[in-house]
Amino acid sequence: MMQQPLLISSLLQHGERHHGRQEVVSRRVEGDIHRYTFTDMAARCRRLAKAIASLDVNFGERVATLAWNGYRHMELYYAASGTGAVLHTLNPRLHPDQLAWIAQDADDKVLFFDLSFLPQIEALANRLGSVRHLVVMTDRARMPVSSLKLLCYEDLIEAHNDTYDWPAFDEASASSLCYTSGTTGNPKGVLYSHRSTVLHAYAVALPDSLSLSARDTVLPVVPMFHVNAWGLPYSACMVGAKIVFPGPSLDGKSLFDLFESEQVTLSSGVPTVWQGLLDHVENNGLRFSAMKRTVIGGAACPMAMLRSFEEAYGVHVVHGWGMTETSPFGTASVLKGSQLSLPAGQRYAIQSKQGRCVFGMDIKIIDDEGGELPWDGRSAGHLMARGPWVLAQYFRQDDTSPLVDGWFPTGDIATIDGDGFMQITDRTKDVIKSGGEWISSIDLENVAMGHPGVAMAACIGVAHAKWDERPLMLVVRKPGASVNREELFDFFAGKIAKWWTPDDIVFVTEIPLGATGKMLKTRLREQYHAYLIDGGRNGNH
Ligand code: AMP
Repeated sequence: MMQQPLLISSLLQHGERHHGRQEVVSRRVEGDIHRYTFTDMAARCRRLAKAIASLDVNFGERVATLAWNGYRHMELYYAASGTGAVLHTLNPRLHPDQLAWIAQDADDKVLFFDLSFLPQIEALANRLGSVRHLVVMTDRARMPVSSLKLLCYEDLIEAHNDTYDWPAFDEASASSLCYTSGTTGNPKGVLYSHRSTVLHAYAVALPDSLSLSARDTVLPVVPMFHVNAWGLPYSACMVGAKIVFPGPSLDGKSLFDLFESEQVTLSSGVPTVWQGLLDHVENNGLRFSAMKRTVIGGAACPMAMLRSFEEAYGVHVVHGWGMTETSPFGTASVLKGSQLSLPAGQRYAIQSKQGRCVFGMDIKIIDDEGGELPWDGRSAGHLMARGPWVLAQYFRQDDTSPLVDGWFPTGDIATIDGDGFMQITDRTKDVIKSGGEWISSIDLENVAMGHPGVAMAACIGVAHAKWDERPLMLVVRKPGASVNREELFDFFAGKIAKWWTPDDIVFVTEIPLGATGKMLKTRLREQYHAYLIDGGRNGNH
């Protein structure tokens, strides 16, 4: 058989050759709608590839982006990786200190950003380490006035013609880099390869995953700075699906209008986004005219949401689980033939699970001693994953392997039933996921501990109606100290991103400790689980 490396550029070439007339539609940060075809996109990617090379980016060097979902971002996905550089998507929701740290750790050489992020870039500019060029993803007419030396994206494209042969190289070469908020310490980089990305794109498109095809119009709500928008920009070219990008407006009305005007059949995002959409649709008595399926993941999809989509709107929900370290697609809750005729309640119960594996991904659950637990739907253990698109080692951490006997410990606690459906029951990693974005409980505890009146601080994620989880801070005062809630809230101001501020601070006389002296957060989570739902304050997200 022929030896052909699995390269990201080959996805683009396939899209152009076999689906050249397919469309890419974007709502731009500039406010208007942009529309072109795969053929147009591929030609611009070739010009952009030459432009990137002209900026002295060498093979394997990082090209960073700070951008919403849009066609220029998609062009960078293909052009940067296609030339052999590594696309590094920065998350604009991070605190500037974290962004600066990440850009330096990644050793980014060029940074492309959306016009709307200019203020952040101006504030960060002298802390971006090795970044040599800043490129604004806009045209000449919209170039902003700034004290920084800025390049114009469209000028770069204009400066080159579209004759370019995508280079062939080893499929194991790095293609993109995404940082995940680490359980402890600084964020960690997950470096994907061309091979892992292409295999992952196949997995995402399979019928028992998202079932993506040339008959679909897919709108990734999940940001392109979150694990490559769950691989959809790659899978869309692979299968020839029309792709629609929402830009920065992710409120219910903006999304619904775009779903309707572009006749979107499939979308993907975190539960928070879908709640906003459902509220809008419900409050205005609307119906979806084309939407058939939606993928909900990143956080647990509540059964009520699943039921609303299915029963009230005829939209089939695919509940999925994954993580940055698994590219991210891990499991999807798609029913098997034998389950289709079950009563609705039982079907929803299965669909509410995080789902089962397609070929390539494998999971198991183990107890504290490493023994494998049975797939009985009851025994809960540490969820382990492995596969060709699962991380083997974090970026720049060559000396330490996170793997245990060849499996990646996910930090999630789960059960697996006899049909292979996995269900997350808890999380051991010390992070809080609010509206799909991580908040480090350790960082928050460190800030609180910096206050002279605080003896001990435990931060836990508790259930929240809108954001899924929000941070709650439990504090033990030092003897004789009188620090109060308002004082501590003031103390947090400016030290963390505003949306990280705990929803409440509760003073307690003690925090339970385990045998090894660690705070027993599992117990705290049980005790305070419903604290915010039972009349706490609204989210600070
Ligand atoms: P990230 O690396 O940001 O993609 O986050 C991955 C983590 O999000 C997982 O390890 C889980 O803790 C959580 N997660 C992702 N999808 C789900 C889901 N469907 N249900 C519950 N938790 C989820």
